[in-house]
Amino acid sequence: MNYRHAFHAGNFADVIKHIILTRILSYMQRKEAGLRVLDTHAGIGLYDLTSEEAQRSPEWEQGIKALLAAQLDEEVQQVIAPYLEIVKNLNEGDKLTRYPGSPLIAQMMLRPQDRLSAIELHPQDIQRLEHNLAGDRKTKVTHLDGWQALVAHVPPKEKRGVILVDPPFEKAGEFGRLADGVKKAHRRFSGGVYALWYPIKDNEAKEHFLLQLRESGIGKILRIEFFIDKPSSPPKLHGTGMIVVNPPYVLHDEMKKALPALLPILAPSGRGRVRVEWLRED
Ligand code: SAM
Repeated sequence: MNYRHAFHAGNFADVIKHIILTRILSYMQRKEAGLRVLDTHAGIGLYDLTSEEAQRSPEWEQGIKALLAAQLDEEVQQVIAPYLEIVKNLNEGDKLTRYPGSPLIAQMMLRPQDRLSAIELHPQDIQRLEHNLAGDRKTKVTHLDGWQALVAHVPPKEKRGVILVDPPFEKAGEFGRLADGVKKAHRRFSGGVYALWYPIKDNEAKEHFLLQLRESGIGKILRIEFFIDKPSSPPKLHGTGMIVVNPPYVLHDEMKKALPALLPILAPSGRGRVRVEWLRED
């Protein structure tokens, strides 16, 4: 397990992923009933942007830092407000030194009736995660294989749940594991909202993954992709993707509106683009 998210925390991919997560949670919290967030690959929860890892090639400068400095129209501001509020709450004044990971974002949004299960396998990261999420009785941190948790921890007893699957993609076959995992989990908990992150780098593997999902029998699948550049050779990460199974009905329109407005900020190359479309809309 070599992947270290600290090198990438707060980059354009984190920004898009975390905006989507906050939109899903905000929408689901319009209903009074409690919900469960299951974060299968949680990371450490809180990132120090002054650390050596975050400073080495400071990806967050073209991500969260650029976004915080940007002027956005009212409608877009409203969409990203819950996310930006969380980031601002962690930092003092205008100084940006800390960035929240997905489990901390979820934890900060929990209402008394909601619960968070954060899963991490890395032996050191799990300790940092426990430390960073400590003191909240609504949160449970577990040292476990996220692929196992994805199936074994659903359905949650709340019967309403958001399942974030954000693997590191450091090993071959991760796209296959992601497609198989969500198919199995969906069989056990068909009403869950599943948010599946994937890198946009290797087009062939990505297209095969999307085809597997399209043919999976799962009814409602939204595809959200944000490119910061054109593909290159050798391939490098030039975009970020998120599949949302059973998305809140407003998510499609919100992303269609907000993401293009983020292109000039997060994709200054001028070669970025956005794709928001239904993979299945049965
Ligand atoms: N979701 C986090 C966020 O948005 O802040 C970032 C997660 S990072 C992309 C992926 C994490 O998965 C790493 O912390 C890595 O240690 C962990 N990981 C790798 N393999 C795992 C596995 N099989 N089960 C659980 N966690 C795993």
